[in-house]
Amino acid sequence: MKKLLRFFVVGIIVLAFLAGTAIGRTTTTIEVVYNTVNITVNGQKIEADNILYNGVTYVPLRAVAEALNKEVGWDQDTMTASINDKPETATVTRVVDGDTLVVNYKGSEERVRLIGVDTPESVHPDVAKNLPEGKVASEYTKSKLEGKDIELEFDVQERDQYGRILAYVWVDGEMFNKTLLKEGYARVATYPPNVKYVNDFIKIQEEARKNNKGFWSNDTFNGEVVKDNISNSVTPVKKEGNYVGSIDSDKYHNSTCRYAEIIKEDKQIWFDTVEEAEKAGYSACGVCKP
Ligand SMILES: [Zn+2]
Repeated sequence: MKKLLRFFVVGIIVLAFLAGTAIGRTTTTIEVVYNTVNITVNGQKIEADNILYNGVTYVPLRAVAEALNKEVGWDQDTMTASINDKPETATVTRVVDGDTLVVNYKGSEERVRLIGVDTPESVHPDVAKNLPEGKVASEYTKSKLEGKDIELEFDVQERDQYGRILAYVWVDGEMFNKTLLKEGYARVATYPPNVKYVNDFIKIQEEARKNNKGFWSNDTFNGEVVKDNISNSVTPVKKEGNYVGSIDSDKYHNSTCRYAEIIKEDKQIWFDTVEEAEKAGYSACGVCKP
C-alpha cells in the first residue's frame, strides 16, 4: 500500500509539470519527453531511476526538487506532495524593538521586520512616540530571540522600502509573529500584498483580545481602540523624498548627488528626513554629506 501511494504521488506531480508549472519566482522550464524518459530542469538533465507502473512512466519527485535546489514536502492529512524553498536560516545578533531584528543572513548583517504584526514603538526617532509598552515588547522579543538561530519565511515582497527583509520568523518550530499576537504584545498590521497568514493572525488576536493578554485591556490595545481587528498600517513604497539610498548599499544621499543619480529606480529607497534614513540602518554619504 505504501508503495502504491508513492507511485500515485509522483504521478500527480509529473502531470503537474507537464501542464507547465513554474516554480518559485524565477521562470523554470521542465521538459519531459514521454516514454523515452528524458527529463531536464532548466536545461539540465536529471539523472534518476524512473519507475514504470501500470504502463505509465514516473520520475521521482525528489530528483526534480533537487535539480531545482528545493525540498520535497509531504502532508499526510491532505495527501499533498509539494516542492518547497529550503528554509533560510539566520542568527539574531540584536533585537532593535519588538518587531524588528538585526540578523546575520548569508554572511551579511540584515534588518528583519516581522510581517503582519506591530508592537508599540520603543526606538522611534520622534521620542514622543516611544511608549513604556514598546520597551516591554522589545524586552520580550530579546528574551526569546537574541542569539538564536532562526528560519526566515518570506511572503510576496522580500524587502520593504527601507531595504529591510520582511519575514515570518520561526524559532524552535514556532512562528514568532504568532507568538507576539498570542501574548498580546503585538496587534495585527496588514502589509498587502504580504498577507499569507492574515486570517490565522486575526484569529489569534481575537483570542488574546478576549482574554486581556499582554497590552489588551477592555477591548483596547494599549489604550487604543482597534476597529475591525486590524490596524491598517500599510506603508506604501515611497517614490520621492529628500534623501535616497539603494537597497544594495547602506548609504543615503542628497537626491542631487552623482551617486544618487546612478541608483536604478527599482532599487531606490526614499526618506523624508535624515532620522528616518538612520533608523532604517543607512549612513550618510561621504561625498554629498546629506
Ligand atoms: Zn552622495
